[in-house]
Amino acid sequence: MLGEKNVTFNCMSCGSTDLCFGYLGTAANTFVPTGVFTVHGFRSRSYVCLKCGYMGHYLPKDKLEKLREKFSTQYEEGV
Ligand SMILES: [Zn+2]
Repeated sequence: MLGEKNVTFNCMSCGSTDLCFGYLGTAANTFVPTGVFTVHGFRSRSYVCLKCGYMGHYLPKDKLEKLREKFSTQYEEGV
């Protein structure tokens, strides 16, 4: 959990913090943003709630910052 110590996630379904983090094991674990050029997309992370089984997906903060940079750059150039 490098760099994620200050980030607290709650289950989107039941609000539990009893979560198991990981990655999806297939090529579908990559988020490719529409309208933003990326070669590889952004690899998402996933969690499963150990209380209710809800599975959530998110981008780690470093990836999110890269996406923000790319998105704002593209927006300025494209409009
Ligand atoms: Zn839950």
